Amino acid sequence: MKLKNYIAGQWVEPESGRYHQDIDPGNGEVVAEVPASSPRDAERAIEAARDAYDRWRKYPAPKRGEILFRVGQILQERKHELAQKMTREMGKVYTEAAGDVQEGIDMAFYMAGEGRRSFGYTTPSELPDKFAMATRDAIGVAGIITPWNFPMAIPTWKIFPALVCGNTVVFKPASETPLLAYELVHILEEAGVPAGVVNLVFGSGAEVGETFLQDPRVNLISFTGSNETGRHVAKVAGERLKRVSLELGGKNAIIVMDDADLDLAIDGILWSAFGTSGQRCTACSRLIVHEHIYEELEARLAARIRQLKLGHGLEDATDVGPLINEKAVQKVEQYVEIGQQEGARLVVGGHRPTEAALQRGHYFAPTLFGDVRPDMRIATEEIFGPVLSMIRVKDLDEAIEVNNRVTYGLSSSIFTRDVNRAFRAIRDLATGIVYINAGTIGAEIHLPFGGTRGTGNGHREAGTAALDFFSEWKAVYVDYSGRLQRAQIDA
Ligand code: NAD
Repeated sequence: MKLKNYIAGQWVEPESGRYHQDIDPGNGEVVAEVPASSPRDAERAIEAARDAYDRWRKYPAPKRGEILFRVGQILQERKHELAQKMTREMGKVYTEAAGDVQEGIDMAFYMAGEGRRSFGYTTPSELPDKFAMATRDAIGVAGIITPWNFPMAIPTWKIFPALVCGNTVVFKPASETPLLAYELVHILEEAGVPAGVVNLVFGSGAEVGETFLQDPRVNLISFTGSNETGRHVAKVAGERLKRVSLELGGKNAIIVMDDADLDLAIDGILWSAFGTSGQRCTACSRLIVHEHIYEELEARLAARIRQLKLGHGLEDATDVGPLINEKAVQKVEQYVEIGQQEGARLVVGGHRPTEAALQRGHYFAPTLFGDVRPDMRIATEEIFGPVLSMIRVKDLDEAIEVNNRVTYGLSSSIFTRDVNRAFRAIRDLATGIVYINAGTIGAEIHLPFGGTRGTGNGHREAGTAALDFFSEWKAVYVDYSGRLQRAQIDA
């Protein structure tokens, strides 16, 4: 299958005529041929988005919402097929891929409703015979740059609120997951998004992404990806005074107290640490454990990890799929080596699988380290793979201090049956998302999503928070007194 860019309502070849391959990380098969676009392709997309902007921002928001509602319906009808394609393209097991598509469906219906809400507010004026209100305005062309680990959810979390707010879009998906982006944009077209309102350009960050950052016709950048790229995005786009939203890495922890329901905690830990092979921004990679239950938890967890079955994500028996590519496996291997050099104790895993059936994919055994100190590199740096580090603490205060000590602040969780401990944790865990008696993953689309400190730059996605990023506040004063009234002077 050969993919094309989508510019000004047309499916077009890249100017260079060059393509690269989209590979199934589970077995090495070619999934699609993908345009290697140039800055010129990106500029044409920006031009199309700019041309379409004035018409789209004036198109009534409820009608924009109705198109998104149709998008949600088509996504629903095609959920199974899209999930299968996602598993082939990036490896996550089928049930998780279906959940990823479901996030897009939920976001479509939620943002469709915002077409009839997008509330502003009225407030009394300090002067007589004067009316005051605040309304939301569109901003312009939104540059959307996404990672590969949530090929449907993340683009929809950005594109749908951008559209309902009246912005037009230029979209550059990760090079590893072009097929799902292609399908999504086809669905937007089918649902009736007018030509030029959404434009899709495949290609590298250095050529296509960089053009979005630099081109003055792109007014805002919504970026999700690594901290390294995020810093660059902030610098280049920030210098040009663009509005920039950054959703970056995580080093998320689950705290397990000595009063916890351990069966429940173990289920939550396995799901959070090894779901999507640890390649979620909210994945749990640190386990902060009360010393009274440390030995028991380690033994029981190790036994369950040994039972996890590695395999292709479309096979029913598979618990854990492949990593995205060989580079990711090498990175995990390096961290396993670093952990051992730092003095952590390797409890389970730590190697590539030996089964012949897995040699064509990028697999790594689910790995557990014990006796990890909070300042070790494996406990502070994002590994983005199936590696979990256990840290021993003596009480809740120490657990919270260890949780908050890393430079990231996305998600955290605590397992406890003590309501006082739970509420202290809610108050003191310095992350954008906190779970009580559940793992670190499982965000719902109508709540704000994002992290503190090094996880971003303070914006939130999803919920009404997304509207705050994709729209501009306008304060409106209507004076019906028929005379000049000076605020702060004539009141
Ligand atoms: P990445 O930073 O390598 O790439 C992200 C995107 O940026 C890709 O589309 C890439 O092509 C593009 N890019 C690269 N260089 C660019 C440049 N110079 N200009 C513009 N764009 C450029 O990240 P990745 O490996 O695709 O994703 C994994 C990372 O994403 C992890 O760190 C993970 O934690 C993070 N992530 C964060 C969240 C969140 O919401 N906080 C969600 C998912 C993933």
